[in-house]
Amino acid sequence: MATVTALDSRKKKASETSVSAPAEASPERKTIRNLSPADGEPLAPVNVTTPDEVRAAVQRAKRAQAAWARMPIEERAERVLRFRDALVENADRLVDVLVRETGKPRNEALLHEILVVADLASYFAHNAARILAPQSISLHFLVHRASYVHYAPKGVIGVISPWNFPFAIPMGDVIPALLAGNAVVVKPSEVTPLIALEAKRIYDSTGLPEDLFQVVPGDGATGQALIESGIQKLIFTGGVATGKRVASACGAQLVPCVMELGGKAPLLALSDCDVERTARAIVYGGFCNSGQACISVERVYAHRSIHDPLVRRVKELVNELKQGDASKSFVDVGSIIFGKQMEVAEQLIADAVAKGAEVVAGGERVHRAGNYFQPTVLTECHHGMAVMREEIFGPIVPIQRIDSDEEGIALANDSHLGLNAYVFSKSRERALRVAEKIEAGSVVVNDVMLNYGACETPFGGLKESGFGRVHGDDSLREMCDKRHVNYGRIPMPSRDPLWFPYSQTSYSIFSKGLEVLFHGAGLVQRIVKKIP
Ligand code: NAD
Repeated sequence: MATVTALDSRKKKASETSVSAPAEASPERKTIRNLSPADGEPLAPVNVTTPDEVRAAVQRAKRAQAAWARMPIEERAERVLRFRDALVENADRLVDVLVRETGKPRNEALLHEILVVADLASYFAHNAARILAPQSISLHFLVHRASYVHYAPKGVIGVISPWNFPFAIPMGDVIPALLAGNAVVVKPSEVTPLIALEAKRIYDSTGLPEDLFQVVPGDGATGQALIESGIQKLIFTGGVATGKRVASACGAQLVPCVMELGGKAPLLALSDCDVERTARAIVYGGFCNSGQACISVERVYAHRSIHDPLVRRVKELVNELKQGDASKSFVDVGSIIFGKQMEVAEQLIADAVAKGAEVVAGGERVHRAGNYFQPTVLTECHHGMAVMREEIFGPIVPIQRIDSDEEGIALANDSHLGLNAYVFSKSRERALRVAEKIEAGSVVVNDVMLNYGACETPFGGLKESGFGRVHGDDSLREMCDKRHVNYGRIPMPSRDPLWFPYSQTSYSIFSKGLEVLFHGAGLVQRIVKKIP
């Protein structure tokens, strides 16, 4: 069997490649050779794209984009919906690839990856014309003129993505970029390149222009090459340390970028929360995708009055979870996608226990083929422990007792990250009051993990969680250059009195005008500025 490459993927149909059988690698080039985290078996090797190939891919994308951008937006939307339909038709196949490559449960692969993308494609395809329609701007001062902005595609958008949602994250950027009239080149994580290549094969089967969406598998050097290959914008999703390097590489090229970085989502369980729902939310939010989500519940602040019953229920629910190889049976918790995260988990647990934490569930890796770590719950935690301050990105939920809403808010905000947060309370008013005080890009009340699926809402972080937003109507506009056009509403004389030549007389007229307009609460100022 041949090695999977971005280039030969153009010639294959969706059903022709296997992700699980070992394959020959090209001797002359770097190859990604991953093992399935589900069972430790080798996955198909993937050739790393060279910097020259990345540059060539961006050039081809530019040429394809020129014709695509001329197409009316309604036609682009119709073609993108064809791609969505092909993804839905191939959903089982995509789920199989995701499960082999990540070890995540089939339900999560279907709902959190495929469904999220299909829904996002529908929303943006049906709304792109409205969102990208020109907008007029009324001018309060230059009333003889009129302005509007219109949105022109940027060109080629680069996408660099992580391994935790290796389909939903890149494809959630690819689809709006295409609708906006751009071409896209995706550099998937070296940990999970196969699902991106599968998406590309399905795309090619729909008859859309092949060079308009390309995948360049590789590592950090491939990502760096993409930034330096003449793209007009980068959407990066990954860790904070990498994000800083990537942002500075973008700065050196003056490539505008969106930075979707780490998260440390707090969950505040207020004194009046529904204990059963909150316990279930902690277990789901902490252990779905084995805790490897930027919006996973990474720390819990539980009010003293409900702390003990909440912990008791969380422990019972964790003990009911079925963990195992998602490619063999329906399990609740699958494997750890990137094996090194198990070392991170072990270090964080050891540090917490040394500083007084109690392990009430789990605490260890599972010794079996593949990468498995027990869903772990820690209590008696405090901010002196790394587990409460550093991103875990694994199946650990640390819990700390609080005495008031204010203490919960202060602890939630005592973080260098600010992506997502959760508040649980039976009082909507109280929950919203708390939510608005939390420094996070999104706060969800009485639910967990769902806001990434609400594609009409902005998603992104504060502080070191990054800048810029994906999703939401503005994200589609930001895939474009916002261009301003200004024109006259009334005929103007050939000799414009504001232009040359200057004279004492014209200066005196303008000077009087300034006085009439702005001195005191002048009548003209009130009228022009519509001040009541
Ligand atoms: P990572 O930062 O290690 O890698 C992300 C991507 O960057 C990969 O494709 C990698 O190959 C590439 N890369 C590495 N060095 C590069 C360089 N110098 N130039 C260009 N590209 C380079 O992240 P990861 O381990 O794949 O993912 C986990 C991280 O992603 C976590 O911190 C998580 O919180 C974050 N994440 C954030 C969001 C969000 O929306 N905010 C979503 C998912 C994951």
